[in-house]
Amino acid sequence: MRDIKSMTLEELGELLKDLGQPAFRARQVFSWLHRGVTSFEEMSDIPKDLRARLAERCVISFPTVERKQVSREDGTVKYLWRLLDGNCVETVLMRYHHGNTVCVSSQVGCRMGCAFCASTLGGKVRDLTAGEILDQVLFTQLDSGEKLSNIVMMGIGEPLDNFDNVLRFLELVNCPEGLNIGMRHISLSTCGLTEKIDKLAGYGLQLTLSVSLHAPDDATRSSIMPVNKSVGVDKLMAACRRYFDRTGRRVSFEYAMIDGVNDSDAQADRLAALLAGTGSHVNLIPLNHVSESPLKPSRRVRQFQRRLEGRGLTVTVRRKLGGDIDASCGQLRRKAAAEDPRERK
Ligand code: SAH
Repeated sequence: MRDIKSMTLEELGELLKDLGQPAFRARQVFSWLHRGVTSFEEMSDIPKDLRARLAERCVISFPTVERKQVSREDGTVKYLWRLLDGNCVETVLMRYHHGNTVCVSSQVGCRMGCAFCASTLGGKVRDLTAGEILDQVLFTQLDSGEKLSNIVMMGIGEPLDNFDNVLRFLELVNCPEGLNIGMRHISLSTCGLTEKIDKLAGYGLQLTLSVSLHAPDDATRSSIMPVNKSVGVDKLMAACRRYFDRTGRRVSFEYAMIDGVNDSDAQADRLAALLAGTGSHVNLIPLNHVSESPLKPSRRVRQFQRRLEGRGLTVTVRRKLGGDIDASCGQLRRKAAAEDPRERK
């Protein structure tokens, strides 16, 4: 059975051509899929026999709401979706003044092992398909009844560790016949897989690449991010510079503030020196405490911010949304898994 939701318009065209269909059918089927139908039966302008033939050959992926939490503080909605194979992933809908942003997952679990992150605690179970990543946008939009204008790939998983499916997802979500979300409205966050950053740069997409830096020096970064042991801060920064040179898009940096680990004045100065002259933006993230981890949120976020600003960097502090609903990714999936033996951890 073929995964029809992950097919590009072109691939769908080939499939339908093989079934003896005229060219316009591909656009019709694509548009139904991207409106969130869950069966071929619902494709009312497609001939009945064609619907049956498609149903024999293809599956339409779709998630169901396993849990949904709505923040009373700020209207943030967190979804735990159950996928067709029983695995679960999280998606968060955030309402900002500049529009609705959806934060999507790219894998079931994660194998990057960052010390502060809940998503990686059980390791990686599998990659999500392009269709399953798209479904998070589609079904969040359908369930909430709200138009989504921005996408951040900052949910569960390392997007560049699922490169081909993520790239295909970007093509699908950007397609004018589908959701038509512009690349400039999409951010992709990575822990810093340099070879994949170079590979992505080759496509010249106009999305925003965010790098989870979290420390300006190798000793600190390696102590909280195992990925740093093989690459290191200097090589990572060099890859970011190449990315900018090839795409013309400045990389932005995320920095989760951890008490006594990466929040000293000396580290702020080192970070400022590292990013001097890049014009890059730094987003400080107040750490979300993960109960399995001894790491605590920093109490020096504002001081750290002022110190960086004093050294010429552009700095924002991420507003904490959905604090009352486990809104940092990975936590709800783990909680549900602990309570439900069907869910694989
Ligand atoms: N794998 C990608 C996406 C991960 S989640 C990456 O590493 O960038 C998006 C951001 O949230 C990353 O910067 C990640 O490091 C950060 N993050 C993970 N756990 C966190 C926590 N407990 N508190 C604050 N930020 C966290």
